[in-house]
Amino acid sequence: MINIGKTSGFCKGVELSVSKTKEYLEKYKKIYCLGELVHNKEVVSNLEKKGLIVINNLNEVEDNSNVILRAHGVSVSVYKEAKERNINILDLTCPKVLKIHNEVKKYQENGYFIILIGSKLHPETIGTISFAKEKSFIIEQLEDIKECIKVIEENKYNHIVVFVQTTFSKDRFKEITEKLSKELINKDLIIKNTICNATSSRQDECKRLSNQNDCMIIIGGKNSSNTKKLYDIASSINENTYIIETVNDLDISKIKDKKSIGIMAGASTPKESIDNVIKILKQEVLK
Ligand code: SF4
Repeated sequence: MINIGKTSGFCKGVELSVSKTKEYLEKYKKIYCLGELVHNKEVVSNLEKKGLIVINNLNEVEDNSNVILRAHGVSVSVYKEAKERNINILDLTCPKVLKIHNEVKKYQENGYFIILIGSKLHPETIGTISFAKEKSFIIEQLEDIKECIKVIEENKYNHIVVFVQTTFSKDRFKEITEKLSKELINKDLIIKNTICNATSSRQDECKRLSNQNDCMIIIGGKNSSNTKKLYDIASSINENTYIIETVNDLDISKIKDKKSIGIMAGASTPKESIDNVIKILKQEVLK
C-alpha cells in the first residue's frame, strides 16, 4: 500500500512563484532570477529552457534588467541596489514572508531587540534579519541562546521580540522558545510563531505517516531546507527512511519487501516528481 501525504509538494508561495514566472517569461522572454527559483533541479531547468537565467548576485546583470525575487525574499540592500540601478524587480517573495519583513521592521522602529530563530545561512533568514538592522540575533541551536542572553544583558535590552523562519522545525522552535522564556522571565518578551501553516501541517503529517508505515520516502531537492527537515523527522521515527531528489535516486532493493510505503515531499517538489515515484513503486514493488 502507498500512503501519500496530502500536504506533499508545492506550497502556495512556491506555486504562485512558478506560475507567475511562466507568465513573466511569456511577457519579457529573458528574465533573471536571484537564486534558484525553487530548490528543485527539474523545475529550474524547465524554466531555464524558456529563458530564465539564474544569478547569484545583482552584479551579474546589466542596469534596467528584469529580475525575479523568489519566495524566500531578500535583504533590504537588494531593493536598494535595484532602485539605484533602475533594475525592474519582479517581486515573488511569498506574501507570508513579506508580512514577517513588515512586522520585523515595525518592531525595529519601536526599539525592540529582535531574535530570529532560523538556519543562519538560509536566504530567508538572511533576508528577514536585514530588516531588523544591527539590534538583532539569529538563534539556530539551543547552544546559541547563551550568547544571545549575553548580548541582551550587556546592552540592558528590556523589550524583545522573537520571530521564526517559516520552514523551521516546530519541535526545535518549541525547545528554543521555552528556554528563552525561562532565561528572560523579567523582560518584556513577545514570541511570534511565524512558522508557515503549510510547514507545520506537513511536519505533522510526516510524523503520522512515519509511525504508520513500514518505510518512508521523502522526495525533494538536495538544497531544500524543508525537505531536509521532513527527512530528519521521518528518520527519527522510522529507521527505513530514504530521501530522494527524483525517481532516479530510488533504490528499489531497499524497499522491495515493505508492505506499506509512506511518501512525503517538500514544498518545492513538483507533482510530476511525486507521480513518477508512485508509478515506479506500483510497477516494481507493489506488483
Ligand atoms: S512555506 Fe509558507 S511561507 Fe514559505 S513559501 Fe511556502 S507558503 Fe510561503
